[in-house]
Amino acid sequence: MNTNSIRRKVMAGVTAFIAGATLIASVPAASATETADVQTLSQHGGAQRIANTPASGKAKNVILFIGDGMGDSEITVARDYLYGPGGTLNGIDKIGQPGATSATETGVGQYTTYATGDGSSRTNQVTAVTDSAASGSAWATGTKTYNNAVSVDNSFTPQMNLLELAKANGKATGNVTTAEVQDATPAVMESHSTQRSCYGPQGKTDGSSDDSAARCDAEQLLQNGGIGSISEQLLDTRADITLGGGNKYFNQTAQAGEWAGKTLKEQATERGYQYFEDPAQLSSLTEANQDSPVLGLFSSGNMPTQYNESKALDHDTAEQMALAGQQDGNQSLVSCTTNSEWLGNKGASLADMTSKAIDLLSDNQNGQSNGYFLQVEGASIDKQDHNANACGQIGETDDLDKAVATALSKVDLSDTLIIVTADHAHTSQIVSWPSYYGLTTPLRAKDGSALYVFYGTSSSQMDNGGSMSHTGTQLRIAASGPGASRVDGLTDQTDNFFTITKTLGLASSTSEINALSDNADVSVEKASDGAYTADLTAFNGDASVSYSLVDTATGQTVASQDGCTVDNGHQGVCGVRVRTTQTTPISFSADTIKDGSTYRLTVKGKQSGKQVVKEFTAGATNSADTTADGTIEIPTTDVTEAQAAAAEQKEALAKTGIAIIMLALLAAVIAGASCAVRRLRNGVETSGDGE
Ligand SMILES: [Zn+2]
Repeated sequence: MNTNSIRRKVMAGVTAFIAGATLIASVPAASATETADVQTLSQHGGAQRIANTPASGKAKNVILFIGDGMGDSEITVARDYLYGPGGTLNGIDKIGQPGATSATETGVGQYTTYATGDGSSRTNQVTAVTDSAASGSAWATGTKTYNNAVSVDNSFTPQMNLLELAKANGKATGNVTTAEVQDATPAVMESHSTQRSCYGPQGKTDGSSDDSAARCDAEQLLQNGGIGSISEQLLDTRADITLGGGNKYFNQTAQAGEWAGKTLKEQATERGYQYFEDPAQLSSLTEANQDSPVLGLFSSGNMPTQYNESKALDHDTAEQMALAGQQDGNQSLVSCTTNSEWLGNKGASLADMTSKAIDLLSDNQNGQSNGYFLQVEGASIDKQDHNANACGQIGETDDLDKAVATALSKVDLSDTLIIVTADHAHTSQIVSWPSYYGLTTPLRAKDGSALYVFYGTSSSQMDNGGSMSHTGTQLRIAASGPGASRVDGLTDQTDNFFTITKTLGLASSTSEINALSDNADVSVEKASDGAYTADLTAFNGDASVSYSLVDTATGQTVASQDGCTVDNGHQGVCGVRVRTTQTTPISFSADTIKDGSTYRLTVKGKQSGKQVVKEFTAGATNSADTTADGTIEIPTTDVTEAQAAAAEQKEALAKTGIAIIMLALLAAVIAGASCAVRRLRNGVETSGDGE
């Protein structure tokens, strides 16, 4: 037993005790051991298998390639079809292979992918088969969570993701996918959502209707005091470059906040994004940075696949085809054909998008100085596996392989780490003959050989809305470049987070992440229209903040945001979404703040606990601080935690004092009233005509 496993057992024991105590108090039936296991595993870093293994190298850049649903089987299916069983995929097979690239360090291993909560009930339990949301959250945040969670933990608390941490480190960032950009794998890098379907302020619609009540937890919506939907948070997170599908969701309209009443497309443009939908424009992009980030959404939903759909056949039909193939040199079998709708025909294959992202991030000033973090997802390996669509799945694996090959041709593996892995295993199996128990697609591979791809995991009929399911097998992870050998052996998905953070030198432990908010600050300004804004900076260890504004003369809280206006148990996504490394504004209407009055503003990072307290007198000015547009910077004074606590106590006492006076007055009034009543009664009684 190594020290790590001892540590885990001790941790499990400690947590078992705590959980046991909690159980006695709250849950009568469940087993303490089971609960403790989940409690331990779902802590930040709690599921690591190699926690004590340091980074094996330092990289300036990391490119993380994810084949969604790309298990060993899916890789082999694509290789067999495209190049024959003895062939080689040009990108995927070279990563991790010593001598196949210029990399001096390589690594290949496998990792576990289980989740710590069931997706629909969201109850805490070890769940062997993960979805893309829980698995993406695992490598994005280092925290295991429940299926359906987008970078929030089992308690619905946001966990800082790799893209935010890379930004906090001064790096350029990119997020590229063939799925809708709101889909789970890209979403884990751009947002924190208790439900993966909370695509926009109007739910998962094209903006002509609103199903947010079904798709989102109410607490998360801006109008209820939450941090906003996935699309709105994408705009807040502000990666330098985001490419993918899902533009119909940007027709939705913001329901609250600074851009209420405007579509997300309008919001993107007003916020300085280079927003575009025409794939032909991709090649002409010249920059992607924080002043002018790129948001290219090339299809209404997921991007069309490279190959047209093939149909998986029942046993008898597939067997007849296979027998005919034996007679005619496999001519009777299915050959995949190119889809005319594929955006690779218009310059936006996954390889094209990856190439452009690498160019722009390398050219970006932050990228040049500090490097970049880029995630690239080939999404529809999974989606076509669900559909038992062998050709669709193969074309998508090919698209991802070409994207990896493109990256290999562009980057310097002495300062760039490339990792290729997946989020969960899937259905497809290579079988020797059409199976009796499921569906089979008999393919004629490009080398002319027969390839039978089998699908058999749907729990209902495919013709009746059925879908092949994810599977729970461990996955391949391969890497080339500095730090690559940390993927060797058996690791967990959450270890991938620590491999990337440690190799890039990003904050990774909870205390390191919290410390990113150490220099947090708040300033206050008054616009020419009389409205006040608090500008938050450097809350980089937080995804969200709470705040309160107190009139110091009365002790009254005149504005605040902490809990949400609704409470169904997901208060973790309440608060103000932090715009990582940017200024996060909190607006106060002109009638909230009265000139001449003094206010105390408390802003608290909801993850780091960092608290900034400022006192200011509304209307006070330093003329030197007036800007050209008439905005006045209001002088503020720092209030220490001790001072703030003392002030709160004094105000509470004052309020109590007022309350005592009020009570005394009330008592006097009641006494007076009862006397009056008595007098009245007496009067009535003495009048003698009551009965
Ligand atoms: Zn899936």
